[in-house]
Amino acid sequence: MRKKIIAGNWKMNMTFDEGQKLTSEIVNMFKDENISDVQLVINPPFPHLHPVKKLIGDTPNVFLGAQNCSDKESGAYTGEVSAKILASFGVSHVILGHSERREYFKEDNAILTEKLKQALANGLTPIFCCGESLEIREAGTHESNVKFQLTDSLFGLTAEEISKVIIAYEPIWAIGTGKTATSDEAQQMHLSLRKHIASKYGQEVANSISILYGGSMNAGNATDLLSKPDVDGGLIGGASLKSRDFITIAKSY
Ligand code: PEP
Repeated sequence: MRKKIIAGNWKMNMTFDEGQKLTSEIVNMFKDENISDVQLVINPPFPHLHPVKKLIGDTPNVFLGAQNCSDKESGAYTGEVSAKILASFGVSHVILGHSERREYFKEDNAILTEKLKQALANGLTPIFCCGESLEIREAGTHESNVKFQLTDSLFGLTAEEISKVIIAYEPIWAIGTGKTATSDEAQQMHLSLRKHIASKYGQEVANSISILYGGSMNAGNATDLLSKPDVDGGLIGGASLKSRDFITIAKSY
């Protein structure tokens, strides 16, 4: 059985007080509303990690993730945060390859491979993002484009390593735009990615990997998107900043 995962990406939002309030509400609703069968991952900006961890405590099925980590192990890299440091603060997941990092910080597949290695070597679960631009979608080459992102960044991993990775398919044209892929478009891409993984690692490994959809998922469209057999959860930006919306998404299975 694949894990069902709802991950919230706060991006560069939330002051200390706002983050504390949001986390407390999410954790309380998650406990009070008896949500089973779904894992939540909260991915706040770095300074929130320790205080958010304290609020999560030992709540079952609620995990803490970072939004990035360094491709280097340690040393003189001012402003960077290593996977080892994150793990030592109780972080269990890390988002890698988000399109905003690829675009604004010029992260390419080669650097992402190094980040993946660092994350895995330190026991973190990578949430590896991939997705096509509008131009590529309109040209009809989206499946080969996204498959190549997996080939180039992930296919150097062993079967054991890739089994620990969560994939998030995030069409760039749907991120923060209010425009989602239809559930059929999401299903088609997820199935295609799963087949691609199976062609390299075998069907058993491919079946075990959770593939999340990201791109303007919200409380209104989550049920439809999450009803698809190869959509194993969501990576949520805007709607993760509102506790009720985030929890509604988690309850949409
Ligand atoms: C994201 O940042 O990964 C994302 C999916 O954002 P949004 O839900 O706001 O489109």
